[in-house]
Amino acid sequence: MKAIFKEHEGEGMEMKEVPEPTNPGPDEVIVKVKRVSICGTDVHIYNWDEWAASRIKPPIIVGHEFAGEIVEKGEAVQGLEVGDYVAAESHIYCGHCYQCRTGRAHVCQNLKILGVDVDGAFAEYIKIPARILWRVSPEIDPNYASVMEPFGNAIHTVTVEDLTGRTVLITGAGPIGIMAIQVAKVEGASLVIVSEVKDYRIELAKRNGADVVINPMEKDLIKEVKKLTSGEGVDAFFEMSGNADAFRQGLESLTPGGMASVLGVFHGDSVCFDINNLLTFKGIRMYGITGRRIFETWRIADQLLKSKRVDMSKVVTHVLPFEEWRKGMDLMRKGQSGKVVLEVS
Ligand code: NAD
Ligand code: ZN
Repeated sequence: MKAIFKEHEGEGMEMKEVPEPTNPGPDEVIVKVKRVSICGTDVHIYNWDEWAASRIKPPIIVGHEFAGEIVEKGEAVQGLEVGDYVAAESHIYCGHCYQCRTGRAHVCQNLKILGVDVDGAFAEYIKIPARILWRVSPEIDPNYASVMEPFGNAIHTVTVEDLTGRTVLITGAGPIGIMAIQVAKVEGASLVIVSEVKDYRIELAKRNGADVVINPMEKDLIKEVKKLTSGEGVDAFFEMSGNADAFRQGLESLTPGGMASVLGVFHGDSVCFDINNLLTFKGIRMYGITGRRIFETWRIADQLLKSKRVDMSKVVTHVLPFEEWRKGMDLMRKGQSGKVVLEVS
């Protein structure tokens, strides 16, 4: 079968022929992959940045966002059948650690990530533990089922607290930021302000329903946010850029007693900010967001897509044949896309 492979340390990836997976273990399934989508993580692995160099042990098949059909199952697998239409939680949780046993499997102590720690989904077939699969509603287009995993990140970040009638700032209009705009609207936010620095993504944020999009390189974001909120600042701040300035600007833009949900991953040294004035005395609540609430965010993702309350056609900007994966990777590297989906079968 064809697979996108990180063969060696250093920049790049290759598409090559590899053996198809066979013989699922008792708790495993084999899925025929229909669609995969490219994540920022795959771009990091392609670029071989500091994070990738410290974490990835080539050779490995990359990719963790996909949708497909079960073609074989192990004898102990229950609740899933051959022919089921599925997507997968990329976090392979152990199921027996303290966190897993107390409803917090997204912070499992023995977490393995698909396409990072074990062979991933950029392939025609994948063999994986059945427990990470989500059965997708048949009404959902496979192009959108493929992006349910990052969609779950957006849902997790946005739904920590009730948003009804609240004003919101989202920093970063990457694929997850633009999904978050739509989720915030569905959740009842009264105003969604977005900050973004790239022209393509400023347009994308507008197309996804942002009320106001501000480029913080051109305007004073904090002043603009105050103007738009009668001088109060926003009630909720969602950090989705991984940029330290954006993080600090978001906290400055927040009203005292407000809440911040931080999804962005910051590279290099830790981020400095004025804890006294931006956290403690401001009395805000700050949430660290990793992965998805398993499987609560999957349930919400499925319902929002099935009911078309979220329009994923505004998020998936490119659907390309599997063989054109390099083109997709380039678009992602340049920030000239929303989600890029590859048609595998
Ligand atoms: P992305 O890198 O495609 O999007 C980030 C966006 O932020 C880009 O469009 C970029 O132009 C913009 N940006 C950069 N500097 C900015 C600034 N100063 N102000 C405003 N915008 C700025 O990433 P994505 O795939 O949409 O993911 C969003 C973030 O979430 C990333 O940091 C990613 O690493 C992180 N992430 C975290 C998890 C998790 O489990 N915590 C999972 C997936 C992704
Ligand atoms: Zn665990």
